[in-house]
Amino acid sequence: MQKQETSSDLRTALEAQLARTELEMQEHYRQFGREMLELADREQRSIDRLLEQMARLRARLTQENRQISCPYCGCCGDADSIYCKRCGHKMKGENA
Ligand SMILES: [Zn+2]
Repeated sequence: MQKQETSSDLRTALEAQLARTELEMQEHYRQFGREMLELADREQRSIDRLLEQMARLRARLTQENRQISCPYCGCCGDADSIYCKRCGHKMKGENA
């Protein structure tokens, strides 16, 4: 009878230890999940910021690529301009 109680106590102790170990493992999973979410959030914000920056740079580059120079005074103008805004010279021969 004594031996059975001892065996039962041991099982109870092992089950308790197993339960504590499982809880500890779950805490690690929770911590991992939190850190992953925070990391994902941080990275998403960095990526969004860089995407915005790239869009601004592309838009700026597109605008710069549309700039043309006046053949007479060298003043800059948009590709759609027909006349120079400084001297009034025709910007491109084919536009007039
Ligand atoms: Zn000009």
